[in-house]
Amino acid sequence: MAFKLFKDGNDRYEEGNEYIKRGDFGKARSSLQKSIEKEGGADDVAAVQIALIDMMGNLDNPNVYANLLKNLRALKSGEFDFGLTHVQRDPLITETELTYRKIGLMNQRAQKKDLEAVSANLQTLAQEFQEKVGDQHLIIQEIFNNDTTVTGTSEFFNLMAVSYEALSDSVVWENPSQAAEYEQIAMGYRQQNGQSGSANDARVRAYSNTCRCWLCGRSASGEGIHFYSAPADISPALANESSAEGTNKNRAEDNKHIYICRACYSSVSNRADEIAYGYHQKSMAEMRAMEARLQAQIAALEREISTVRMMSRN
Ligand SMILES: [Zn+2]
Repeated sequence: MAFKLFKDGNDRYEEGNEYIKRGDFGKARSSLQKSIEKEGGADDVAAVQIALIDMMGNLDNPNVYANLLKNLRALKSGEFDFGLTHVQRDPLITETELTYRKIGLMNQRAQKKDLEAVSANLQTLAQEFQEKVGDQHLIIQEIFNNDTTVTGTSEFFNLMAVSYEALSDSVVWENPSQAAEYEQIAMGYRQQNGQSGSANDARVRAYSNTCRCWLCGRSASGEGIHFYSAPADISPALANESSAEGTNKNRAEDNKHIYICRACYSSVSNRADEIAYGYHQKSMAEMRAMEARLQAQIAALEREISTVRMMSRN
């Protein structure tokens, strides 16, 4: 091979691909960029490879998917390599479109706004993952996480679970037993996806848990939402008078917690806050008064000292 003083676009491209294989993505990006500047174009494989490199550590950012999509759509070649992964363009376009939508919906779900609409959109998306990707694994997960277990089908189960969890969140305030049913469905999807579903199970039990308030005697369903378990000193005589069973329970079996409905709980804790704030204000006022007394004493002492000094000079 002849010695070349100046590297051309192809040399830069080859060099960039070597760096990708070695995992040196900073150098790879720079070589690929030079290859585009020399003779590449927007339809170049190098442009797609740069878009992929720019996704690293940024997989939750929708902008990187939009950028990848733009470059993939401009790409003339139907396939290319990224490191040791051989990539088909069109399946990656499909996956990138679906994942871009997924991130948007997951962000909306996290903000807990319009949860019913978000849930419906998540289900539509789940079905598209199932239909369009199916048992194929996700290419982006393979490239960045070396993970070939995430498939269109596993995304279907995952997104269906998330959609029912969103529905549960949307109704738990008004209807905890309905929320428990949605959590039950979500747990089924998680288990089909090889997960334990234990967080769903815990919510099913909490949402369907019913008690009688120790203070006011009202019934409440939905632990942590509509009633709370509060630490208390329950003497044996009081334990005998109360119940730790079924929907009539007003204390825990351990005799160390009573159940209190949300209304009683909030009333007590608001009053406790007011009292604590009152004490805080009172102690601050006393500290300010004490500080003023000390300042007055210091000023008096300073005057005495300067008087003594003047007298000793004379
Ligand atoms: Zn109550």
